[in-house]
Amino acid sequence: MPHPPDCVRANVALAPYTTMGLGGPARWFARCTSVGELRECLAFAQREGLPVQVFSGGSNIIFSDEGFDGLALNVALRGLREEESRDDAILSVGSGEPWDDVVLRAAGRGWGGIECLSGIPGSTGGTPVQNVGAYGQDVGETLTSVRALDRRTLVEREFSRDECAFGYRESRFKGPDADRFIITEVRFRLTRNSEPEIRYPELARELGEGAGDARRLTPGDVRTAVLALRRRKSMVVDPSDENSRSVGSFFTNPVVTKTFLEERLKAFPVPVFPAPGGVKLSAAWLVEHSGFPRGFRKGGAGISEHHALAIVNRGGTTADVLALAGEIEEQVYGKFGVRLQREPVVVRYNPR
Ligand SMILES: Cc1cc2nc3c(=O)[nH]c(=O)nc-3n(C[C@H](O)[C@H](O)[C@H](O)COP(=O)(O)OP(=O)(O)OC[C@H]3O[C@@H](n4cnc5c(N)ncnc54)[C@H](O)[C@@H]3O)c2cc1C
Repeated sequence: MPHPPDCVRANVALAPYTTMGLGGPARWFARCTSVGELRECLAFAQREGLPVQVFSGGSNIIFSDEGFDGLALNVALRGLREEESRDDAILSVGSGEPWDDVVLRAAGRGWGGIECLSGIPGSTGGTPVQNVGAYGQDVGETLTSVRALDRRTLVEREFSRDECAFGYRESRFKGPDADRFIITEVRFRLTRNSEPEIRYPELARELGEGAGDARRLTPGDVRTAVLALRRRKSMVVDPSDENSRSVGSFFTNPVVTKTFLEERLKAFPVPVFPAPGGVKLSAAWLVEHSGFPRGFRKGGAGISEHHALAIVNRGGTTADVLALAGEIEEQVYGKFGVRLQREPVVVRYNPR
């Protein structure tokens, strides 16, 4: 008979811990508030030969309808330290701190560098995993280091920004070291005295409309504008907005070579953006032009009425969501020859 640590419970429904609101029960579940608890839980899983699934805010993960036949570890480490120097502010944040609380605090103090990432749900520890980004900014720009617990050795170590290997919605924690480390703390260097740089035309327009004077822009102004834009797209989690029952964008923007663009996509006016190694295509455009308009519904899943890349739970199941995602991928590939990549992690019932 297994003897789990005190923080471990049996048979816990996963759906309430996710923004999609989907997923059956975890055979074992623990909400860990310290590194000590994480170690105890990992040792328990090692003893019992259980697979472990780490998650935190549940905003970029999809659990199966059957649940998870192992230990689901919910990271809830709190704490935030601030150090100010003349030009910079260093924030050291426990990985379970809600990300948007951190942005709110930084913007409130006038510290710049993460204001465009306002309104993104989930935890601070979740942000380095896919190098969270929006409106021309990503965490890889201001993050200076990450502390993480090695799941095999149970030893904590530190990664510098360069060691995190950030790319577009990529990092070592999603790539080569997926499922190896549990992030426990993230450190950021923010600016104290510089005016926010606006790189995204849509955001510049929103700020332009709101600004009646020529005063200096603050991180707080940018946060207000970003939140207004995101709310209109249902990209802020709001229990009263059905269109926000999603994982945000389900697909990343595919990067293709210029040759592929010229040879295969010449006939299509797909919006493109510069990207290392080629061009980035608008995944939203590809989806909408493959027979899946905003508001499309199939079974218990659908596409948000306000965002072409958000697959929404319309009272259905994980199977409904994945079936719709599969159908979109097939149609986009059939029409444009482009393979869409999924952004969220999809967890199988039994990953062994
Ligand atoms: C409405 C909505 C809008 C969104 N908008 C954006 C956006 O604009 N830009 C963007 O980039 N993303 C966006 N997202 C996706 C998501 O919010 C982010 O990816 C977020 O950082 C995920 O954090 P989380 O704590 O919820 O991670 P979870 O969903 O809990 O987990 C996601 C992955 O991260 C891993 N993980 C989580 N915590 C840890 C940890 N402490 N240590 C190691 N691994 C960990 C998990 O194992 C899993 O692989 C959006 C999601 C929603 C629902």
